[in-house]
Amino acid sequence: MSTRQVSKHHWPRGCHPCPARACGEQIAFHMLACRRHWHRLPRDLRALLVTTWKTGDLTRYVSLREEAIAWLRRK
Ligand SMILES: [Zn+2]
Repeated sequence: MSTRQVSKHHWPRGCHPCPARACGEQIAFHMLACRRHWHRLPRDLRALLVTTWKTGDLTRYVSLREEAIAWLRRK
């Protein structure tokens, strides 16, 4: 995990595929997963992702995001 400061303004733009296995739906870059897979994430993890994004705590957000992506890939 990089300790580099992350800024919302430098967040990549464009699209990426949903990280869940066998999905591949194209979604906006600031979204973690497609709607269907986002709702499969544990509620606590989703709440933390939303809070850290809103408060701009992006270092924490990125680490939570990686955790969520790993979680989706295990399914
Ligand atoms: Zn998906």
